[in-house]
Amino acid sequence: MLETVYEAQLPVGENLIIYKNRITGSKPVGRIAIVSGIHGDELEGQYVCYEMIRRLEEHPEYLRGTVDIYPQMNPLGIDMARRNIPKMEMDLNRIFPGNAQGTVMERAAAAVVEDITGADVCIDLHASDMYVREIPQVRVSAEFARQLLPFAKLLNADMIWLNATATVHESTLAHSMNMLGVPTLVMEMGLGLRITRVYGDQVVDGIFYLMREMGLWDGPVGPVREPVISSDGEVEFIRAEHAGIFLPSIAHRHYLHKDEKIGDIVDVLTGKVVQEIVARKGGMVFTLREYPFVYEGSLIARILEQDTQE
Ligand SMILES: [Zn+2]
Repeated sequence: MLETVYEAQLPVGENLIIYKNRITGSKPVGRIAIVSGIHGDELEGQYVCYEMIRRLEEHPEYLRGTVDIYPQMNPLGIDMARRNIPKMEMDLNRIFPGNAQGTVMERAAAAVVEDITGADVCIDLHASDMYVREIPQVRVSAEFARQLLPFAKLLNADMIWLNATATVHESTLAHSMNMLGVPTLVMEMGLGLRITRVYGDQVVDGIFYLMREMGLWDGPVGPVREPVISSDGEVEFIRAEHAGIFLPSIAHRHYLHKDEKIGDIVDVLTGKVVQEIVARKGGMVFTLREYPFVYEGSLIARILEQDTQE
């Protein structure tokens, strides 16, 4: 059932409406909230929401509890494929928990928080930007790791990144909901402005597995992967040292050996390689640059350091 979570008239004559789709099962045994589109240029979660609803409607007989799906938390941003709230240039994920007496967007944030409050778990789906591709991962702040890790391990992610500093800012939806006692997991995958169906299907499988473990879903579920768990200390950032075009030599999600080549940065005017990028340690490439132009300091890859198997 479609419900309006928040609605406001904007001064520019537009309407801001945040919808959710509530799908209710046969028993009131619990509730899961699935959130996407806080950042309007991150579209991977759009497919996850679609596919969740499609599978739930295909087999309503298996659903026990309640599933609330909020596909577009920042509808104006999604309309324009922009990360922030257009015209206000505000990051919606920096104004939670909001304020019921505040500005339009602060009131929207407060309405969303109130609506999710009482859920047994919340999944907040994000994507990368247009520059680097990410494997499906759960990002968990150290502060809430004890409560969140048991849920995070069920979500069929390749990786759990503990204490990924930027994602666990205090004004995020996830932090606010965790403070209010709703275990909220941030998932990150793919690329900005793109949908990677294979990742979306992987995450949907994980959400159903989690729902089954929570008693919300009685249907068949596949096995889930065992994610690697890392903290900031084990993640190596590889950055460009020269401007140019990055040409990768490896695939994403690849396990690198020490001294293995990651790629070249080339100068298209002179035809020269200006930087050969080589791994100093072995590990899994969980972030890899897709956008070819680089400047000094541009992120090329993130590697989760692991002992190489050979
Ligand atoms: Zn995001």
